[in-house]
Amino acid sequence: MDKFLTQRFCDRCGGDLESGRIMSMFNTDCICMACKEAEKHDKDYRKAVEADIAEIRKGNYNYEGIRGVETMDKKHITDKIIEQIIIIRDSGVCNMLDAAGVQRAAYDRGLHELVLFIHDHKKEYSSFILTGQR
Ligand SMILES: [Zn+2]
Repeated sequence: MDKFLTQRFCDRCGGDLESGRIMSMFNTDCICMACKEAEKHDKDYRKAVEADIAEIRKGNYNYEGIRGVETMDKKHITDKIIEQIIIIRDSGVCNMLDAAGVQRAAYDRGLHELVLFIHDHKKEYSSFILTGQR
């Protein structure tokens, strides 16, 4: 919840949250008012609201939303991360199993998504390098 109050940018569009923030009805994203407005026009909005109310009635105040599972997917390796891994691999600067070395190389090249991904998901990173599977 702390992050919700302190973060500066919308989880969905990356826009500034200066003019207001609100929790998404679909997942736990902290979004700007424009994204909230767009959400209301989503065909599943009613379903999302009803699911949220149903969970609250059950006493679950931390319901992650009907698309909360999609948010979880973000933790997995994305195409962008793979692209960045390939950039480092092709540069040949370090052994790809040397996670710290790859992080440094990624940082030097401005590949911040990869730096953060390795930081947060070392296990997933290694298993991708070893098996090629996400
Ligand atoms: Zn937004």
